Amino acid sequence: MKIGVVGAAGRMGRMLLAAIANADGAVIAGGVEASGHPDMGTDLGALAGLEPIGVVLTSDAQALFDNVDAVIDFTVPVATMAHAVLAKNSGTALVIGTTGLDAAQQNTIETAATFAPIVQAANYSVGVNVLQGLVEQAARALPDAYDIEILEMHHHHKIDAPSGTALALGEAAAMGRDVRLDDVADKVRDGIIGPRKSGDIGFATLRGGDVVGDHTVMFAGPGERIEITHKAASREIFANGAVRAALWSIVRKPGLYSMKDVLGF
Ligand code: NAD
Repeated sequence: MKIGVVGAAGRMGRMLLAAIANADGAVIAGGVEASGHPDMGTDLGALAGLEPIGVVLTSDAQALFDNVDAVIDFTVPVATMAHAVLAKNSGTALVIGTTGLDAAQQNTIETAATFAPIVQAANYSVGVNVLQGLVEQAARALPDAYDIEILEMHHHHKIDAPSGTALALGEAAAMGRDVRLDDVADKVRDGIIGPRKSGDIGFATLRGGDVVGDHTVMFAGPGERIEITHKAASREIFANGAVRAALWSIVRKPGLYSMKDVLGF
C-alpha cells in the first residue's frame, strides 16, 4: 500500500515516515511540506533517520493525493482543511492526527468524509483509546458528587490547549454522564471564581520540556479519589497507530471513522 505523509518534516511527520518504512505491506510513496520549508528536496529516508529511498520532500499535495492509497496528516488546522478538500476531490483515504480544530473546520472534515474514508483521532495510541473506555465506564458508575478533573502536560512547542486527547477524555466522561461536554466543560480558572459547580468537567493544562503527553483523569469524591493516568514515553505509539489506521482505511467506504473503529473496540 502506498502511503504519503503531509507535514513530513515535522516532529510527527518524521516518526510517521519511519513507521511506514517498518510496517508490513506499506511503502513511503511521498512526503509533502508547506512550500518554502528548509528541508524541501531532502530524501524522505534521510528525514526519517533511515537510508535514502530515492523519494524527496515536495510541496505538491495535489500530486500526492492523486498518486497514493492513503495520506497521513499531522500538521496544523489550516493545512488539514486543504488536505480534507484534496481527499474529498480525489477519494483518497486520509488519516488525521492534527488537533485544535474549531467547529467549522470539523464540519469541513465531516463533509469530506462523505466522499472519502477519513480516520480522525485526537490520539492514535492503543493505551489512550482503552483509557477513554475506562473513563466513560467510571463516569457512568460514579455519582455527580465525584468531581471530574482532567490534567494534561505536553512539551513546550505544543500550540493548542487543552490537548485534543484531554478533550476526547472529557467527551468520554461526558458521554458516561449522558451530558454534552460543551455544557459542562470548565477550561479556564483565574481569580475569584467561586465554588466549583457540581457536574462540571474541569481541565488543567501544563506545558514544559519535552513531555510527549501525560493525561490524568481524576474522580474526586467524598472521602476518596480515583486517578487514571496515561503517560506517552515516545511519539512512536502515535505513528504506529496512525499507520495501522492508514492500512485499515484504504479498503473502507467513505465515512468518518475513529481509532476505536480501527482497533475494533
Ligand atoms: P510540528 O510543528 O513538529 O509538525 C507540523 C508540520 O506540519 C510542520 O513540519 C509544518 O511545516 C507542517 N505544515 C504546516 N503547514 C503545512 C502545509 N500547508 N502543508 C504541509 N505541511 C505543513 O508538530 P507535531 O508535534 O508533529 O504535531 C502536529 C499535529 O499533530 C499537532 O496538531 C499535534 O497536536 C498533533 N498530534 C496528534 C497526535 C495524535 O495521536 N492524534 C499525536 C501527536 C501530535
